[in-house]
Amino acid sequence: MGMKADLILTNGIVFPAREADSIAIRGDRILAVARSDEIGALAGEGTETIDLEGRPVLPGFIDAHVHLFDAGLREIGWRVDLSGLSRDETLAALREAVKSRGEGEWVIGEGWDESRWGERRYLTRGELDRVAPDSPLGAVRMDGHMIVLNRVGLRAASSIVPDHGSDLFDPEWGILREEAAWTLLERIEPDPSTLAEALSGAARLCHRLGVTSVHTMTKAWRVPILFERRGRDLLRIGVYQTVGSPSEIEGIAGYENDQWLRFLGVKVFTDGSIGAGTAAVTEAYPSGGNGILNYTDEEISNLLAAAARAGHQAAIHAIGDRAIAQVLRMYARLDARSELRNRIEHFELPEERQIEEVKRLGLHLSMQPNFIGNWSGPGKMYVERLGRERDAVSNPLRAVFDFGIPVAFGSDGMPISPLYGIRAAVNAPYSTQRVSLDEAIAAYTEGGARFGSEEGVKGRIEEGFLADLVVLNEDPFLVPTDLNDMRVEMTFVGGKLVYAREGRCG
Ligand SMILES: [Zn+2]
Repeated sequence: MGMKADLILTNGIVFPAREADSIAIRGDRILAVARSDEIGALAGEGTETIDLEGRPVLPGFIDAHVHLFDAGLREIGWRVDLSGLSRDETLAALREAVKSRGEGEWVIGEGWDESRWGERRYLTRGELDRVAPDSPLGAVRMDGHMIVLNRVGLRAASSIVPDHGSDLFDPEWGILREEAAWTLLERIEPDPSTLAEALSGAARLCHRLGVTSVHTMTKAWRVPILFERRGRDLLRIGVYQTVGSPSEIEGIAGYENDQWLRFLGVKVFTDGSIGAGTAAVTEAYPSGGNGILNYTDEEISNLLAAAARAGHQAAIHAIGDRAIAQVLRMYARLDARSELRNRIEHFELPEERQIEEVKRLGLHLSMQPNFIGNWSGPGKMYVERLGRERDAVSNPLRAVFDFGIPVAFGSDGMPISPLYGIRAAVNAPYSTQRVSLDEAIAAYTEGGARFGSEEGVKGRIEEGFLADLVVLNEDPFLVPTDLNDMRVEMTFVGGKLVYAREGRCG
């Protein structure tokens, strides 16, 4: 008698080994993947069995780029979630929050996106003044690269953010960008117990969406909270700490990694975003300007060298071709350590030869297919900000896959939803962006596992792998171009059912 299973999922479609329909789980691991007539031998007295009724089961999704605390603060309502709202709804949601928070207390909303509104103007200071005449109020744009403040908020910001008068601090419109915005937001920090609560909220959100592992980009002082809560929320977390100087990298404590929590590396922002007009591009924006490079070559070079010396993987945010060029130049200069699997985040506007260069340098690409769904195609934000030609070559997933570059998909929290991202990648408006369903699923599962050097334990459904699984409502391969009705039915982490859609499996 061999080992018996604790749980058997049977009568499903196991991705991608479609000849198997059952999975036996013991403890937190997959004990066997087999046909239902074979798997019965692994059932013992205490074995629980779940009939999947012909539904597909995939490896749990790995979102390779999220901001877990921010997602959680929205989930628990501490920050007002403005995503998907119209301009009027945005102002109404903020008004409601100001009323309930108490006079004088900061209210921060985030996720507004004027590119989806009929009238494509940013939120204005005047509008926020009418919503909150007496309390400080700020509204962060969807990409996180700018915040609009009301009069009271602006007054508070003036004493917090040093560089007013610069192009990052525009008092007339109440707009703070990049560093100026982040400096302010850092000072409006919830207390540690709220942050811990936010982590639990974020885990629940992830479970609902079939996400079992994330790579989160996190500010230094929040990292200890992740370690305090290790494993408690049943979400596997890889941590990248945001840094801006070599000394910050050298100051990183030694962390103990396990299957729940791993300190993976450091995150560096080299430019801004397309939406805020701050991504560093060679050809000027139609509205003017070339965006912003946050660092000199020398500074980037020093950061990369410090990360390599410390043995930390580097995750470098570079969106515009001018930022990508700088990062590639500096990586080429560095005596590359390919075992660190250094990554570039976003990579939205590369030139074709830059894709080749990524391949040559052995870099990994962390890309967000939901950006295509959100902003690419006729009438969308990229066309407006960049023109049609540059939109058509944005986020060139097809080319990146064809070069054989390791790719992991993530959401950057806009919104967290692998199924939404997979849909966007499969149905992308341009052929240079479009990938197959298999490729998209692999990038949202195996991709992230490889980036975290965990390809031997997660990202696939195999004997000995962690039992992190997601059950969908129907087989996506039946009509791969029409994935609109795809839903997550159940999510398992380490063999534990952490989410079941209402009406399913109690
Ligand atoms: Zn991000």
